[in-house]
Amino acid sequence: MTRTATFRLVGPLFFVIFAAVAHGVLSPRSELYGPVLVHGDRHGDSVALTFDDGPNEPYTSQVLDILKARGVRATFFLVGINARNYPETVRRIVAEGHEIANHSFTHPYLIREGGESMLWQIDETQRTLEEISGVRPRWFRPPHGFRDPRLFPKTRRLSLDVCEWSNMPRDWTRPGTRVIVDRVLRDLQPGDIVLLHDGAGTVHGGDRSQTVEALPRILDALAARGLRPVTVTQIATGIDRSGYRQNFLNDREPADTRDCD
Ligand SMILES: [Zn+2]
Repeated sequence: MTRTATFRLVGPLFFVIFAAVAHGVLSPRSELYGPVLVHGDRHGDSVALTFDDGPNEPYTSQVLDILKARGVRATFFLVGINARNYPETVRRIVAEGHEIANHSFTHPYLIREGGESMLWQIDETQRTLEEISGVRPRWFRPPHGFRDPRLFPKTRRLSLDVCEWSNMPRDWTRPGTRVIVDRVLRDLQPGDIVLLHDGAGTVHGGDRSQTVEALPRILDALAARGLRPVTVTQIATGIDRSGYRQNFLNDREPADTRDCD
């Protein structure tokens, strides 16, 4: 067989393998490397709002003020080093009934980290958040959503499940408040896990004013559509109850079922 003929035969195979690996790393929906929570019950009436990269003031407190005024609970995927900088904010998040979750210690691209460092990023954040708030998170979201096969044994070892998202308005690009609201609502379905940002990696004071401004309008639209904002654990519990992906939380402790009102 000539070299060209061999390439014609093997080339597409390599492309397919490369595409599959890339999809496993990059796509929030892929479960190639391990189980990932992407959305809740599509036939239910709840939506989970998640805020990444905080705490980051003044924006995290502004988000909390809005949620408090509406009696709504959300989930905050906190960066460990940011939590060290704003411990009072972490305690306020917990005190007001929101869920805190782990989003690594310094927000690196985890797939570029060595195994030890990857474990440290997750473990150090668990320790930090527990030390500050008394609460040990049960969900991990890798920075940028990227993951590889090395991640899942580590999250399992730390009793964490991996949560990605199903609705992403790309608010971190600061496209304008109206665009953020439109993007969330355009594709919104029951069970969605919405990815928003109160922080910007590890940047102090990274501007999240557009997300803050968008939030009341998103909450108005959810209410108008009869959708109830809940935490990630609550939306996952809904899945468990409905029998959809029953095994996902099989060996977890009973979920926090505090009422959302
Ligand atoms: Zn992030």
